[in-house]
Amino acid sequence: MMRLSQMLFVTLRDDPADAEIPSHKLLIRAGYIRRISSGIYAYLPLMWRVLQKVSQIVREEMNATGAQECLLPQLQPSELWKESGRWDTYTKAEGIMFALKDRREQDLALGPTHEEVITTIARDMIRSYRQLPLNIYQIQTKFRDEIRPRFGLMRGREFIMKDAYSFNADEESLKKVYQDMDQVYNNVLRRCGLAFRAVQADSGAIGGSGSQEFMVLAEAGEDEVLYTEDGQYAANVEKAVSLPTDAEPSPFSTYEKRETPGTQTIETVCNLLKCSPTQVVKNVLYQTVYDNGITVLVLVSIRGDQEVNEVKLQNELTKIASQYGGKTIITLTVPSADAQEKWAAKPLPLGYIAPDIGDEYIAADKQLHPKFLRLVDTTAVDLKNFVTGANESGYHVVGANWGTEFKLLNNSVDIRKARPGDRSIHNPEQTLKSARGIEVGHIFKLGTKYSQTMGATYTNEQGEEKPLVMGCYGLGVSRLAQAAVEQSYDQDGIIWPVGIAPYHAIVTIPNINDAKQVEIAEKLYTDLNLAGIETLLDDRNERAGVKFKDADLIGIPYRIVTGRAIANSKVEVVERKSRKSQEIPIAEVVSTLQQWIVDC
Ligand code: ATP
Ligand code: MG
Repeated sequence: MMRLSQMLFVTLRDDPADAEIPSHKLLIRAGYIRRISSGIYAYLPLMWRVLQKVSQIVREEMNATGAQECLLPQLQPSELWKESGRWDTYTKAEGIMFALKDRREQDLALGPTHEEVITTIARDMIRSYRQLPLNIYQIQTKFRDEIRPRFGLMRGREFIMKDAYSFNADEESLKKVYQDMDQVYNNVLRRCGLAFRAVQADSGAIGGSGSQEFMVLAEAGEDEVLYTEDGQYAANVEKAVSLPTDAEPSPFSTYEKRETPGTQTIETVCNLLKCSPTQVVKNVLYQTVYDNGITVLVLVSIRGDQEVNEVKLQNELTKIASQYGGKTIITLTVPSADAQEKWAAKPLPLGYIAPDIGDEYIAADKQLHPKFLRLVDTTAVDLKNFVTGANESGYHVVGANWGTEFKLLNNSVDIRKARPGDRSIHNPEQTLKSARGIEVGHIFKLGTKYSQTMGATYTNEQGEEKPLVMGCYGLGVSRLAQAAVEQSYDQDGIIWPVGIAPYHAIVTIPNINDAKQVEIAEKLYTDLNLAGIETLLDDRNERAGVKFKDADLIGIPYRIVTGRAIANSKVEVVERKSRKSQEIPIAEVVSTLQQWIVDC
């Protein structure tokens, strides 16, 4: 029970200057959250109730599958992260882990995720197949030094996550937990009143055998989802595959070098040569640094109208890391002019590079691999009589072919970004559509990645020692709560879905100097709460208009007003979502609301 007159509750008339998206503005204006520093927020009493509601739904759904709740330490010793091989990637360059030293000069980190901690526990405690399967979860604050914290709780540096880790004897048994978790996420999001879509997600280069993200659909979402209208395909753009549009037939039939001054871009060269971007092989330079400090220069050849998918590229580069003596990638960038100066032995013919640009452009240096890694996307391999650079400023070649003018050194790869309008692979008659989403959950088949590196094994029925097969399942509790607002608001404020609203109802006393209004409101307030309807009482000494505005802003699903109607033993009940108002006999308020809330 709570009286607004006694609550830590302040609403703001104006939008906060640093908030860009509606949900962030509204949560601050309505007194749910307060910014303490970049990506660091206080959850005020109303917000904390929402977060507890979401957590409770998550808990119920997880427990129903037999998952067990625990609480793991947030302070994690560096040794564990060194064992898994992730200390450097998480602390160096763009690493997002907060690391610190204790008074004994030991390295520690604030947990951004808990694979290392849980795997070390499994290593110690799980011995036999008889103990499997297990699914362990916690709901806890995570710390990540995000490069761009923003949008309030959407991308915080401190945020609440539910993370679960499953341990299985084999892939088959992992599949079963994975499906259970898929179902849990569907149930949770439905109960939270959200419109969402499950999509195929990138699993990284050694990321096991599959993963799905759960996207809350909203314009402000940072992720792009590509899907087909038949409902058969949906994927994060990072992962999406498609059939490219057809290339136009080449207007060139013989190989020639042409003077093409001032045509560093695809558009300008196509204008000059009167050809289509689909007939050009574009060569894009990347620079990657592996965890052993070796820099490799990568030349990606791709059809001129297409773009490189840097997530797919990074996965390819990780797969072949051992060829360069590394394990993982620290950075992958398009080298700036400054960066090029550091390794180029002589100025590059930028805008005119061909797939076979000479390795002599790379200066001799211990930290530099002496050869370009040349990757050719499938779209480029398929071209005949194409246009590409001549490795000389101001010149292109036309009518070129693989196998004659250019050698194909490696197998072709799919490193192309799928895009809306492309045909779908499962059915070329379906074209990909685009939507924006907020990633609230990610379920992931890890396989034996961590158990193998950290030596977490069990003995199977045949008495053999095997690595545990793992899965991990994250859900952003605080991000989800804000995503609900992003999906549900109007010009007057938040409209909470009933399942996660901080309170179901608010009793508003228009005039607290009217003893009759107060008496009826107090009684309703008590009765509603006793009946399990979580109810606020607005007993503040404010004008009625101010109270109505605040009730709309904070988005409580039902408002009960002890105004004029009390003369007829009735009160006004307004549904926040539809703004529908009706007068209900005072004696029937509790039962009516009970009914409405159950129906939601
Ligand atoms: P993103 O791509 O958005 O950075 P992620 O891939 O790093 O997410 P996971 O490590 O899979 O996310 O974490 C599980 C869930 O935790 C995510 O699905 C998301 O809902 C939530 N989450 C991740 N990072 C943040 C953050 N900085 N602030 C709030 N929630 C987050
Ligand atoms: Mg992240």
